[in-house]
Amino acid sequence: MNYKTALKNTIFEIISKASQELNLESYVIGGFVRDYLLQRDFKKDIDIVAIGSGIDLAQKVSELLPNKPKVQVFKNYGTAMLRYKEIDIEFVGARKESYAEHSRNPIVENGTLEDDQNRRDFTINALAFSLNKSNYGELVDPFNGLQDLENKILRTPLNPDITYSDDPLRMMRAIRFATQLNFTIEAESLTAIERNKERIKIISGERIVDELNKILETAKPSIGFLHLYKTGLLDIILPELTALNNVEEIEGQTHKNNFYHTLEVVDNICPNTDDVWLRWSALLHDIGKAPTKKFNKKQGWTFHGHEFLGGKMVKKIFERLHMPLNQKMKFVQKMVMLSSRPIVLSEDIVTDSAVRRLVFDAGEDVDNLMTLCEADITTKNPTKFKKYHNNFDIVRRKIIEVEERDHVRNFQPPISGEEIMEIFDLKPSREIGILKEAVKEAILEGEIPNEYQAAYDFVLKRAVKLGLKKVK
Ligand code: ATP
Repeated sequence: MNYKTALKNTIFEIISKASQELNLESYVIGGFVRDYLLQRDFKKDIDIVAIGSGIDLAQKVSELLPNKPKVQVFKNYGTAMLRYKEIDIEFVGARKESYAEHSRNPIVENGTLEDDQNRRDFTINALAFSLNKSNYGELVDPFNGLQDLENKILRTPLNPDITYSDDPLRMMRAIRFATQLNFTIEAESLTAIERNKERIKIISGERIVDELNKILETAKPSIGFLHLYKTGLLDIILPELTALNNVEEIEGQTHKNNFYHTLEVVDNICPNTDDVWLRWSALLHDIGKAPTKKFNKKQGWTFHGHEFLGGKMVKKIFERLHMPLNQKMKFVQKMVMLSSRPIVLSEDIVTDSAVRRLVFDAGEDVDNLMTLCEADITTKNPTKFKKYHNNFDIVRRKIIEVEERDHVRNFQPPISGEEIMEIFDLKPSREIGILKEAVKEAILEGEIPNEYQAAYDFVLKRAVKLGLKKVK
């Protein structure tokens, strides 16, 4: 079968020409071929394998291009990259790999196309289109990858135990591709992942998180997390989540399984946000529930303080997995810490002051928080489901109302500490803090509007209680 039409982009002809000039063979391989055959969107990444030096080929291609783009050479890896019309093209010489026990960095030798296809992770990623004049556009498919694409199966070209043990990142990649493409992981491969799960420990947090992010970015991340759970990988990577997978019963009272609930929340949030950090917040929103779970006769099962503890656990997870410890982490922490607030609100009569406090605490992130909390409604009781959603609509409307009136989203005190000092001729002191806090409370409670004159009058009245006199 010939796939010349896949190679419409002029860059392929130029690579072909460069290969001829260097008298070597070249192929486009991996993601480009797979995604073309699956009719997925082209990701602007092309991998080229040369039977010979990938670096020489990249340099030759650059010479033949009108703007002679810069070639980035990675000598240690024997690869080179250049960018052409926003497309990243990576060149590698065909290689044969063998692995040592404690590293995912292989010992590399020059090899044939077949050697190179053997070292690929899955049959569907080992497919190649020829760029050689004699058979331009021909599919090279030694492992029946095309059939696997049709059957939607992930299979390793070689023995899966060896493939996964050599480079354990491939276990994460298998699960990630299964989630992205909605493919089945071949049974033998799944059991090999189970057997090799401990090997994941040699993979850096950054790489694991790359794959977790890609799983979270799909339309239905639960597919991936269930695979991670069933293969035992999740228990190693995120034990805080697997700890949620139980249902206990005391005196006939049970609580919900918070692991499956969490996965439902993650899937629920996906149609409403593409923000991967909000999706992380959904994933981690209940992690404080395992360590705070208690039972007492009066209340049944409780998880007091789980939001606060959950927020602290977020930081530990980010540290352990080498995730960014910046405002993204703070955002996830904040979402987890506030995750029960809107639902509590919506179970009750929605008062203005409760909404004002919510907007004050969540600030700019209040809309994200609402998105998270709506996804958190997983009750199977249709009456309750409707009631909560209706109440959330009320909360959302009130947020807009309160915001228009009181502007507490980015709260700035309407009267400053310096001004209070001047009014009463005070040096920096405890009283100023007390007065400022009282103003904030009065605004949040709706006793006074968020305005200068109202705050000024309020301060004068409140100061009397502190025995302060106006001097100015
Ligand atoms: P995506 O861009 O969605 O991650 P991709 O298949 O293009 O998909 P890359 O990580 O860019 O993924 O890798 C390009 C190709 O390199 C893959 O298609 C595969 O053939 C090979 N490959 C990448 N990582 C590995 C690995 N860990 N083990 C074996 N082969 C790999």
